[in-house]
Amino acid sequence: MKTLTIENLRVTIADQEIVRGLSLAVPRGEVHAIMGPNGSGKSTLAKVLAGHPDYQVTAGSVTMDGENLLELEPDERARKGIFLAFQYPSEVPGVTIANFLRAAVQSRLPEGEELEATDYYAKLYEKMELLGMDRAFTSRAVNEGFSGGEKKRTEILQLAMLEPKYAILDETDSGLDIDALKTVAHGVNSLRGPDIGILLITHYQRILNYIVPDDVHVMVQGRIVRSGGKELALELEERGYDWAREAAGEMALTR
Ligand code: ADP
Ligand code: MG
Repeated sequence: MKTLTIENLRVTIADQEIVRGLSLAVPRGEVHAIMGPNGSGKSTLAKVLAGHPDYQVTAGSVTMDGENLLELEPDERARKGIFLAFQYPSEVPGVTIANFLRAAVQSRLPEGEELEATDYYAKLYEKMELLGMDRAFTSRAVNEGFSGGEKKRTEILQLAMLEPKYAILDETDSGLDIDALKTVAHGVNSLRGPDIGILLITHYQRILNYIVPDDVHVMVQGRIVRSGGKELALELEERGYDWAREAAGEMALTR
């Protein structure tokens, strides 16, 4: 089964349980949104999927197309097809976007195979055009001095170049004005297809007007309290998260 499957996952950091028995499955070919208030553990979940070493998985499992993800190092997960676009992308001074992405793409090729420079640049420029990025960006250091919107575009550019099996986008909409949001959404939509599963994490419903999800999951206090179709996002926008917090409280009592 070609699915990213999370079962009864529990995650702790600094002796605090942040993810508390979360289950979720994202099949390839689908876009699933996780919505939830700040502090509900969305970024923690994203980082655990990518293999961040600070977080302790105390229970549950994560499999990618049937393979246990949790026993793999972060770079192995990436090479096997997991991609995480960070909520707060890091700056990498002294490393240009062109070199950074080239190394990343090269590292995914089978041993002994060389990435052709002309092929690489053709693809890079094509993807940059799609994301409305000036070619001059290729010679700038990764995220150094970038605006919030530019950082988010750079994350999506990486996604476009790496062609992962599963992409986790953590609040890719935050800090974007409406035009940048539309451009990024256009970029993500152009990457949708049967070979990729996308987990789109967001606080606000707005981006889901442009990247229409197959399913929406509401996450509160480390759990999925409700799942539904795309209309669930609109309901959340109207009703806010208070009812979801109540639902989370009830779930905590029954376990
Ligand atoms: P969200 O992305 O939904 O806003 P986060 O996953 O960022 O939520 O945070 C969930 C909770 O985990 C918060 O209470 C946060 O303070 C805590 N947390 C996250 N990362 C750390 C960390 N590195 N050290 C201590 N607490 C953390
Ligand atoms: Mg977050």
